[in-house]
Amino acid sequence: MPHSPGGALFRAFEYASTYLDELNNRPVGATASLEQLRSRLGRDLQQESLEPDQVIAELIAATEGGHLGSAGPRFFAWVIGGSLTSALAADWLTSTWDQNAALYACGPAAAVVEEIAGAWLKDILGLPPQASFAFTSGCQLAHFTALAAARHAVLRRVGWDVNRDGLFGAPPVRVITNEHRHGSVDRALRFLGFGMRNMIALSADDEGRIRPEALQSALQQSQSPTIVVLDAADLNIGAFDRFETLIPLAKSAGAWVHIDGAFGMFARASRSKRGYLAGAELADSWATDGHKWLNVPFDSGLVFVRDREAHRAAMTLNAAYIASNDQARDQIDWNPEWSRRGRGFAVYAALRELGRAGLEELIDRTCDLARSMVDRIGALPGVEIIWRPHLNQGLVRFLDTRSGAGDTAHDLRTRAVIEAINATGEAFFSSSVYRGKATMRVSVVNWRTSQTDVDRTVAAVAQVLGRLG
Ligand SMILES: *Cc1c(COP(=O)(O)O)cnc(C)c1O
Repeated sequence: MPHSPGGALFRAFEYASTYLDELNNRPVGATASLEQLRSRLGRDLQQESLEPDQVIAELIAATEGGHLGSAGPRFFAWVIGGSLTSALAADWLTSTWDQNAALYACGPAAAVVEEIAGAWLKDILGLPPQASFAFTSGCQLAHFTALAAARHAVLRRVGWDVNRDGLFGAPPVRVITNEHRHGSVDRALRFLGFGMRNMIALSADDEGRIRPEALQSALQQSQSPTIVVLDAADLNIGAFDRFETLIPLAKSAGAWVHIDGAFGMFARASRSKRGYLAGAELADSWATDGHKWLNVPFDSGLVFVRDREAHRAAMTLNAAYIASNDQARDQIDWNPEWSRRGRGFAVYAALRELGRAGLEELIDRTCDLARSMVDRIGALPGVEIIWRPHLNQGLVRFLDTRSGAGDTAHDLRTRAVIEAINATGEAFFSSSVYRGKATMRVSVVNWRTSQTDVDRTVAAVAQVLGRLG
């Protein structure tokens, strides 16, 4: 039975506009419990069909209170960006057009929009213009894609064709990383068959960075094919490895250098922050996200690879029925998926909405707000600043001020205060463990966050501290 789609789509649109308008006044944390959500959503799947409008109305009602306010301005947990208005609208249109963005032939505009947005991004991020790229589901799959290219290249250099001969019997590949690397790096390495035993995690200095001597000595320990993974902003303190020093060391030892810049790569767009990434352009591959600092809806990872041939060899496939067009860019040559969403539209829209100046302003403003929030929360009684942001990430902890209280008591206090802040509905934070201490992470990544939101948040924290005593 063909339906007119209008009812359901109008309902979704009306609800979405109200939801976005009210973000500022809704509780930031979820208000529905696990049991409530299960009982509202969990019913037997009925036999008969329903009108789309009814399905959507009931979906909205059943999930009420079950969404975190991560789209809104006072959500500071993990590193989760919001969605710029044009990027959200482009994302709706992406579903409307419903292109299979695997090939130019299945979605010409979807292919071209990625080609253009990919070139813009290389320019903004200061990456080699000839680098290849892919739009993935997130940084996780961006790592997977880049490290597959790395695996191909470092084994090829020792005469091993991984596509033909696989990994069984291959020369061992070592991976050197920073102890503070994100878990998605380990997982990508697992997917690629490296094994954790072949990973060397270097301990970092007090600012979270690999020490050049430590890298040098690790490199000298073996002649095996080597991949070095460096951090462009870890999620606790936004630490950047010293690319200018480390990358030449790694390159002279013949290693492939990959950078995890899930959010930190975007600091390249700011003149005042760009210095942290000096030398990042010397790497071989770079992974980042559209759905964090660029404020594109989820399902937006980005990967760039200097050695196009290694990237293509690791990802492409030849099937007789693929209608490739030798002029256009087919995403399937660069991406790990087959059928896929047209991810370029939302990225293209976000970049157009912001422009270069708007992106720089977004990066600078969120960094300033993170610092101001950490300083002001840190000035409240019983609060210790663990990391004052130079970027958009900071750490504080809440002390148990009773005499004799030690780290365990401070950890308990910190977790209790975070829970109490989140329960106010005014703001939402997550905890982290940094150098053995429980902390509250302050992460500002949303384009909607303003000074007023920092004021409201600091007031809520002060009120909680006063109440808990
Ligand atoms: C978020 C994050 C990742 C993982 O990215 P996803 O987009 O969630 O897959 C990797 N590294 C760092 C530093 C991150 O912050």
